[in-house]
Amino acid sequence: MKNEMRVEFDAKSVNEGFARVTVAAFLTQLDPTLDEVADVKTAVSEAVTNAIIHGYESGGGKVYVTCILEGDTAEITVEDKGVGMEDVKKAMEPFYTTKPELERSGMGFAFMEVFMDDMQVESKVGVGTKVTMRKKIGAKEDGNQDGCGDGSN
Ligand code: ATP
Ligand code: MG
Repeated sequence: MKNEMRVEFDAKSVNEGFARVTVAAFLTQLDPTLDEVADVKTAVSEAVTNAIIHGYESGGGKVYVTCILEGDTAEITVEDKGVGMEDVKKAMEPFYTTKPELERSGMGFAFMEVFMDDMQVESKVGVGTKVTMRKKIGAKEDGNQDGCGDGSN
């Protein structure tokens, strides 16, 4: 069964937590482990933060988040209609940041890659950026910490 949600919110830092928790709440129907939830929350936070501070350069706009659940896989997109990127490949390199003055470490994309199974970035200068991330949920080994994974709830 496929199940999809979409939210749209103002590009304000105060909404990062909203985005993270909303995706996590939607994800619960796949019965994720705590680790899986934490991974997805981190990845969503990084992508949403990027949309706000880089995409819109903290000047406001809208951020669009979708989550599609199909089988045991979650596909999450985070999109902005901001400044876009000239060189996505370069932007994705660890430690690459265009905002060192804001004490950014350039690790956002690297975290998204580590915490999700795969990630793609589409971006066009002056048009915006869309990050698509996928993660298989329930790849847990038996005996893990979640305590609610026997399908009885
Ligand atoms: P950190 O995430 O560690 O705080 P960072 O945001 O600079 O630092 P990444 O998240 O890896 O690091 O992003 C790398 C660079 O890619 C950014 O510095 C920025 O130049 C560019 N970038 C990322 N997301 C966007 C976006 N949505 N729109 C425009 N540029 C972006
Ligand atoms: Mg970042």
